[in-house]
Amino acid sequence: MPSEIAVEKKKLKNPPLKLHYLGDRALRQPAKRITKIDDELRQLVREMLQTMYSSDGIGLAAPQVGINKQLIVIDCEPDNPANPPLVLINPVIKQVSKDICVAQEGCLSIPNIYMDVKRPEVVEIAYKDEYGRPKTLKAGDLLGRCIQHEMDHLNGVVFVDRVENSLTLAQELSKNGFSYQAVKPVA
Ligand SMILES: [Zn+2]
Repeated sequence: MPSEIAVEKKKLKNPPLKLHYLGDRALRQPAKRITKIDDELRQLVREMLQTMYSSDGIGLAAPQVGINKQLIVIDCEPDNPANPPLVLINPVIKQVSKDICVAQEGCLSIPNIYMDVKRPEVVEIAYKDEYGRPKTLKAGDLLGRCIQHEMDHLNGVVFVDRVENSLTLAQELSKNGFSYQAVKPVA
């Protein structure tokens, strides 16, 4: 089936959806499972993709645009028109690797802040695609990290919650107009 969901990978002056930023309650609410995968949802997927490409992101979770649903879009090759985006509906983690790796992350909801985060190197997930077809995926590298980052959003967690260097984080946040009070460190 051709991907009808595909949108042109370009920057729009007025992206269809508004991003919510660190400190906004929308980012802290656990997202609800999606029960109906229909044209209306596929339209939302399209708008999330347009918003993500317009902001130079490689992943976007619905809570970041104020929508309390278990929906994620990802495209680790936004400059490659041939790379289809990935749409994750109701994703669940089936397994993570014992190997942990550290890499720098950023987030469209916390612009200009890039910091190291430790995560399992490989993750295995189950989800439904934009046509409701059940899928599984095992991913490492950038994609594996992106999936874990976006799935955190569905649980009301943002990457700064996982940053261990709290002193540098506090400095970076204040430099960019965010409050450290908005961080909820994970145990
Ligand atoms: Zn994010």
